[in-house]
Amino acid sequence: MPVSDFEAVIGLEVHCQLRTKSKAFCACPVVFGAPPNTAVCPVCLGYPGALPVANREMVSLAMRVALATGCTIEETSVFARKNYFYPDLPKGYQISQYDRPLATRGTVAVRANGSVKNVRLNRIHLEEDAGKSMHEFPWEDVPALSSLVDLNRSGTPLIEIVSEPDLSSADEAHEYLVSLRRLVRWVDASDGNMEEGSLRCDANVSVRPKGAAALGTKVEIKNLNSFAHVKKAIEHEIERQVAALESGRPLVQETRLFEPDTGATKAMRSKEEAMDYRYFPDPDLGVLVVDGAWRRDVAVSMPELPEARAARLQTAYGLPAADAELVCLSRPLADFYEAAVAKHPGNPKAIANWVLSELLARMSDADRQAGRLPVAPETLAALVARIDDGSISGRMAKELLGDLIATGRPVDELVKEKGLVQISDEGSIRDAVLKVVRDHPEQVATYRGGKAATFGWFVGQVMKALQGKGNPGVVNRLLRDSLDKD
Ligand SMILES: [Zn+2]
Repeated sequence: MPVSDFEAVIGLEVHCQLRTKSKAFCACPVVFGAPPNTAVCPVCLGYPGALPVANREMVSLAMRVALATGCTIEETSVFARKNYFYPDLPKGYQISQYDRPLATRGTVAVRANGSVKNVRLNRIHLEEDAGKSMHEFPWEDVPALSSLVDLNRSGTPLIEIVSEPDLSSADEAHEYLVSLRRLVRWVDASDGNMEEGSLRCDANVSVRPKGAAALGTKVEIKNLNSFAHVKKAIEHEIERQVAALESGRPLVQETRLFEPDTGATKAMRSKEEAMDYRYFPDPDLGVLVVDGAWRRDVAVSMPELPEARAARLQTAYGLPAADAELVCLSRPLADFYEAAVAKHPGNPKAIANWVLSELLARMSDADRQAGRLPVAPETLAALVARIDDGSISGRMAKELLGDLIATGRPVDELVKEKGLVQISDEGSIRDAVLKVVRDHPEQVATYRGGKAATFGWFVGQVMKALQGKGNPGVVNRLLRDSLDKD
């Protein structure tokens, strides 16, 4: 059977670091890049007898993601111990949630192939991160073949967002992550920074003959730490599984690791079952209760969500759906757009065009995600206002933009200084038009003989006479008057 006769079934488990100041169960600060083992205490070092206390802000941030994805927030949920041994887990267990998660059953809208697919969420639960084992380090006094453990990250608050197996390609999985990252940033729950480990993902992948009801053997790919890796790993895994099925080799349920160097996945261990972890409720933490008042407090502090905002931008400002969606790439970008429109309400479409073409083109991907705009909204509003009132042309405005970004000076000041004032005065333009028409009788005859396409040549001549500063609208109108009427 060719690859096209199979379909992939993919579910993602996304671990997302919450943006708290302190750790999940102790008062240590959450830091990135600090000297090893400087942000630790008896609780996150796992000393016997040290008692954890759940961080309220952690729960509130998780609730924001739950509300943003339409999950049901459970009134009571339970912290559980997930027992396993690892050098970076000194307690011998990770505090997580198991059969009683914080939130259940939501959806994430994913744009794929021009349509929107609602990917179902199974659950969102709270957990803590482990420490970090280091096998390579910059210090010369560490003997070769050593491994060291940095526990700064131990106890960092995470949510795990578990999807149902609703995704059917590597591209869809990628788009799902893009949507999820936008959402957790949008509601200020996480910085969503994959490079610093704030967003990590495991993928469950299986394949089956198209139309088959039963699921194929599931393989879990662990610790995918960039969007590109997620895509490559899933693509490779689908190919590997289809090739195995075609040649009659049985697939094993197992955990595999993605190797960025080869672009392939490699068997890591046979998949453990949940029972291997001997989950049980953490006796030190008891039941987590979210009462109505807490839920309401979080709900009223929620921003308008991206889908709703994109829909409002369409109706309020007449933006095409695709533009509205792009403006809502991040909340700061949407805020910037609306702030600019508020300053120059006359032309929201032009402002969207400037944001989406000129401004985004001058921003790095990181700036785009974080919504760091190169100019203030007032500046863009003033620039578009000067185009709209005919003071400068669109071409001049584009020339100005570089200086505006570099200097941050007011638009009108730069326009004046650079002598970039557009000629809109009909008298001067009419003089130029008449001179061009008078000096080129042959071309006028050609045009009037039916060669309408030569009109652009006349526009060029008049613009040249006006040193490029003629208002294109007026030039066009007066030229047409002159050429068509006589
Ligand atoms: Zn601590």
